[in-house]
Amino acid sequence: MLGFGGKKNNALNNTSVSAGAMRDERQTSAIILNAIEDGVMLIDHEGVIQLFNPGAEKITGWPVNEARKLDYRSVIKLTNEKGEAYTREQNPLTMIFNNAKGAIRDNKAFLITRNGRQVPISLSVSPLTDERQTTTGAVAVFRDVTQERLEEKQRSEFISTASHEMRTPVAAIEGYLALALNDRVSTVDERARGYLEKAHESTQHLGKLFQDLLTSAKAEDGRLTSHPILIELGSFIEQLTNDLRFAADKKGLALEFSVGSADVIDATGGKTIVGQKVIKPLYYVKVDPDRMREVITNLFDNAVKYTDQGKITVGLNGDNQVAQIYIRDTGVGIPSEDIPHLFQKFYRVDNSATRTIGGTGLGLYICRKIVELYQGRIWVESTVSKGSTFFINLPRLNNERAENERRRETAENTLNPITTLTNPVLQ
Ligand code: ADP
Repeated sequence: MLGFGGKKNNALNNTSVSAGAMRDERQTSAIILNAIEDGVMLIDHEGVIQLFNPGAEKITGWPVNEARKLDYRSVIKLTNEKGEAYTREQNPLTMIFNNAKGAIRDNKAFLITRNGRQVPISLSVSPLTDERQTTTGAVAVFRDVTQERLEEKQRSEFISTASHEMRTPVAAIEGYLALALNDRVSTVDERARGYLEKAHESTQHLGKLFQDLLTSAKAEDGRLTSHPILIELGSFIEQLTNDLRFAADKKGLALEFSVGSADVIDATGGKTIVGQKVIKPLYYVKVDPDRMREVITNLFDNAVKYTDQGKITVGLNGDNQVAQIYIRDTGVGIPSEDIPHLFQKFYRVDNSATRTIGGTGLGLYICRKIVELYQGRIWVESTVSKGSTFFINLPRLNNERAENERRRETAENTLNPITTLTNPVLQ
């Protein structure tokens, strides 16, 4: 079938054998490339398609014979979920020629087929390099993920509906338990009060779990509403810290708010970049204040929850590009092996210091999803028994851009107050 007849020839003629072996190898590669469902495309350093398999034809709608020798830009058109064309910086096929060290992956891209259909794909582009490590071409492997997306959507719709439906009876139970515990409405003996208090706590926990499930399902399928506006983080966080003070006071923890030493720690390497010292820096960002409040409150509540004594510091730093918020505690800390998983769904550190503390394991996942809505980054640095610092980096708007943004918002609100108030900007 495949015609692997090299053995016999081997003894007779070495040259013809290697030619045969090479032919066999090529044949095998061709068979594999033809058989796999994934799209495989090879481009040279000028971006001309040198190889295009039938899988790629099926996904893109471009016949193999037509696609070969064309510039990949006319064949592989990538967009985001809103249908906006990828910029050079977003496109893995262009970025791979910018000295990329390894493969670039993109699981959120959409491909516009030959007849204009938008197909969700998962894409991985690997560089081909010569002996001087110069990129001479690239191999792109892509897969149509329509079915996976549909299943994800159905899953998260189910979770949304279920948690939404369950929240109502749980709220009713919580309400009645609160009434039973209210001296002015009910009379209960001490033992019964103890049981009711436990039941009340558990119902509150259940209510929070359903709320978090609902939010995380929305975050997953992009239904998290967001109305980003211009805010100045300094005053925003100061106000919020004052609102949160009560929780720290109740546990006897000191609380500090600090703005503006201009050191920014880099999310990738922990490197310190020293920016310019400014007397009273203003940190403008464009985010939804309600969503940002959710994130900071969650980090603050965790800091209180996982700290028995000491201090919580809420701080703000920045350089020209970045505004950095941090929430530092002197609590139990997080083991280094747990840190990489912390922002995943349902992940909770399981040790004697945390086991007895209630939680859903969804808070940090939701925080990450919200921060990513604004092209931000969230991460943690921590030492067990010493404490943790959660950092958030957000793109900072300089004063001029902030002023322009403010003017634009004012004009928009004057022109069309109702639309701006009711139109959720879906990110
Ligand atoms: P939870 O509802 O369990 O608090 P989160 O997603 O907010 O869920 O946090 C995930 C886990 O991360 C927690 O269970 C806890 O183990 C750990 N964690 C979060 N914040 C802190 C902190 N400030 N100090 C120590 N551990 C923390």
